[in-house]
Amino acid sequence: MKNTLTPSRFRLAVQAGFTLFCLHAGYRFVGFVAWVSGRSETFTSKPGAVEGFLPISALMGFRHLLITGRWDPVHPAGLAIFISILVMAFLFRKAFCGYICPVGFLSGLLERAGRRMHLALIPPKWIDLPLTGVKYLLLGGFCFAVFSMDPRSLEAFLTGPYNMTADARMLQFFLAPSTLSLTVIGLLAAISLVVRNFWCRYLCPYGALLGIISLLGPTSVKRDAASCVDCGKCTRRCPSGIKVQEKSVVRSPECIGCGECVGACPVDGCLSFSVYGKKRIPWLAVGAGATATLLLAWLWAKATGHWDSALPEAMLKRFYSMF
Ligand code: SF4
Ligand code: SF4
Ligand code: SF4
Repeated sequence: MKNTLTPSRFRLAVQAGFTLFCLHAGYRFVGFVAWVSGRSETFTSKPGAVEGFLPISALMGFRHLLITGRWDPVHPAGLAIFISILVMAFLFRKAFCGYICPVGFLSGLLERAGRRMHLALIPPKWIDLPLTGVKYLLLGGFCFAVFSMDPRSLEAFLTGPYNMTADARMLQFFLAPSTLSLTVIGLLAAISLVVRNFWCRYLCPYGALLGIISLLGPTSVKRDAASCVDCGKCTRRCPSGIKVQEKSVVRSPECIGCGECVGACPVDGCLSFSVYGKKRIPWLAVGAGATATLLLAWLWAKATGHWDSALPEAMLKRFYSMF
């Protein structure tokens, strides 16, 4: 019987699942903000998952952890998610982008739509290369800003009102986007139909960070040149525009571990994921491993008190009501 679980279907199912989960967390967060800011009497606990949308705050919390050894008390779940994503990038390439990030999911849907319209191109190298550098510049800027802060300023920012209510500001952005934000989002979506994964490929500093970490990790796509029939299906299917058929091992920082190339290859065993380019592993291991990494991080953080904020209720109410 034909195997109906393909990398493509599995990935879509995981991405859709995480996107629905994020929407549910967002819905609960609306209730929390209403309660904590005094607009509703009904208590709703804060879903820690929303802190995953605060990567800059998490980066600051990470540096704070490195300097002081203390876990961020304001957005503890955000830090747990951030560290698990770094671990994930090391172990499973940019599987966070390929399977979990809702923006990556939307970007992928636009890419598929663009392909159907015979668009979704990767620009020629002379445009592509300098544009790819933009996200690394942005990452460098953020890292410089965070890592050059002295410990006192860092602590003051982390425990200050702006950071404390950063998640509520993010919610505000999603619930009541300005005309400018809507225009920029619409423009990015339109460009993503024409240029494959425009935001992720050129502008996202988080993706840039994960790409750099993934270069150090053990997992990569491996091609068996002896059995390859040079059909080019892998290259055509790769959402990151990697020329898979020309490599023996794919070690690109753009590889999102999606396994689409493996699923597209018509020759059994020609393409597979591998550990250090040697031991082959099933394609399912990447997406399942990434999901398990996040789940384990959540279990660990919950069990050890590194997930829910221990800040006093009165303090939270004071800050959120100021927002
Ligand atoms: S590149 Fe950024 S926006 Fe795109 S999937 Fe990765 S983390 Fe999400
Ligand atoms: S090389 Fe394969 S696993 Fe990596 S992004 Fe391209 S299709 Fe996905
Ligand atoms: S899809 Fe498989 S057989 Fe075709 S070029 Fe790629 S690796 Fe070779």
